[in-house]
Amino acid sequence: MKHKIFCEVCRVSFIHRGELKAGAAVICTVCGARLEVLEVEPEIKARRFPQEPEQEIRERVDTFARLRGYIFNAEKENIIEGLMDKYKKFGDFYCPCRFDNIPENICPCLETRMNQVKKEGQCL
Ligand SMILES: [Zn+2]
Repeated sequence: MKHKIFCEVCRVSFIHRGELKAGAAVICTVCGARLEVLEVEPEIKARRFPQEPEQEIRERVDTFARLRGYIFNAEKENIIEGLMDKYKKFGDFYCPCRFDNIPENICPCLETRMNQVKKEGQCL
């Protein structure tokens, strides 16, 4: 079975294959976010999986890297720290390398989701 699920982190829909029921955890294949399925009928509703912020962002970047076949450089811990700072100040994981705290810059940012790593060799 194919299900179309909207990810509120990266704000696009992705396809999930297999059984789906309320309470299930699914991974967004676009950004790596873990989501909790709230409802399946009449339409699928999902939200960010409730978990500690640092656990959430670590899991998301690890999953995203695994999905894309990327590896982290030596800056990983500094970036996680920067992401946590942004979360505490601005309420979400906006990229610490970017000035604007806008949805497009929520980690992994839109350019990174659009294959910037493949083009540039790294994110930003
Ligand atoms: Zn997503």
